[in-house]
Amino acid sequence: MDQTLELTTELINRESVTPEDAGCQQLIADRLAESGFRAEHLRFKEVDNLWLVHGTGAPLFCFAGHTDVVPTGPVEKWHSDPFKAEIREGYLYGRGSADMKGGIAAMVLSAEQFVAAHPDHKGTLAFLITSDEEGPSVNGTRKVVEYLEQNGIKIDMCLLGEPSSDKQLGDVIRIGRRGSLNAVLTIKGTQGHVAFLDHEHNPVHQLSPFLHELTTMQWDQGNASFPPTSFHISNINGGTGAENVVPGDVRLMFNYRFSTETNETEIKEKVITLLDKHQLDYEIDWKLSGQPFLTESGSLVDASREAIKDVCDLDTICSTGGGTSDGRFIAPTGAEVIELGVVNKTIHKINECVKVEDLDKLTRIYSNILERLLLD
Ligand SMILES: [Zn+2]
Repeated sequence: MDQTLELTTELINRESVTPEDAGCQQLIADRLAESGFRAEHLRFKEVDNLWLVHGTGAPLFCFAGHTDVVPTGPVEKWHSDPFKAEIREGYLYGRGSADMKGGIAAMVLSAEQFVAAHPDHKGTLAFLITSDEEGPSVNGTRKVVEYLEQNGIKIDMCLLGEPSSDKQLGDVIRIGRRGSLNAVLTIKGTQGHVAFLDHEHNPVHQLSPFLHELTTMQWDQGNASFPPTSFHISNINGGTGAENVVPGDVRLMFNYRFSTETNETEIKEKVITLLDKHQLDYEIDWKLSGQPFLTESGSLVDASREAIKDVCDLDTICSTGGGTSDGRFIAPTGAEVIELGVVNKTIHKINECVKVEDLDKLTRIYSNILERLLLD
């Protein structure tokens, strides 16, 4: 059996739903200890994290990823046990096969092979593994990055093995992500009886002209690397459930996925200006879940493109699409950050799977990248 496939299988069979790691990190640390990696197990609250290094000094190249997976959903809809990896018609099925235990296995195998062939490679080869990427993401990569900064450790280049590919392995790499900003807005009115002609105190009525402007506003046009900023209302709640009561308030939740053409402050200012223009009585709470980041060019992007060309004979597309990832915590340290991994078509879904032949191919891409970056 191909070794990347074997390790992916072993990892899938450990039921590591966030924040559980279920022994995945110990397995990785034990294997890489045999190749001379030094391990630090960093547990923050209920989250296991692992930092592994081989070599010394700069450049520090880091593989990053997560051992946790999202819940299975209704198990009876799966064609096989989500925590018992099974191959059918060239695909390996199991929760986490694509997101991202296949990626983790390919990182480990490429590191083992690279270190065996080049024990005295230049710089440092590191791993940053967390068991809280799919959950709150508070005690995972974010905390490890803080720990590294406190200890004067600087990541120069970071490759996240997240499933970046679209139709075939290597066709897309992610070189950045949009920022994400959440808001909870409460418009306050006065609760009363519907029989009275007191429209100005009905918060739903007050909301409506404001909402029209908010939802038709253009935030920016995007740029060469980012699509225009998107805005969505995800929740709207008001009313007591009774037919004859004017609600006392109405509550909205909305989210921005923003490009580098705007920023958190600018978006907030526009919303506040609009609220004031409509003379609304409101309360608003903001939560930034990530700043946008972009690694436009540099040795990591170049090495990745060339490695994909070598192994897959493809010209990869550099994209900033998709949701947030832990790259948002690593990029602000000044590191070059990219995501390169298997096809993401089935991630988080029932019957998640990865093409078996892509696992070994991904290992070869990663090895090729290491040879380009950590050899003289
Ligand atoms: Zn993932």
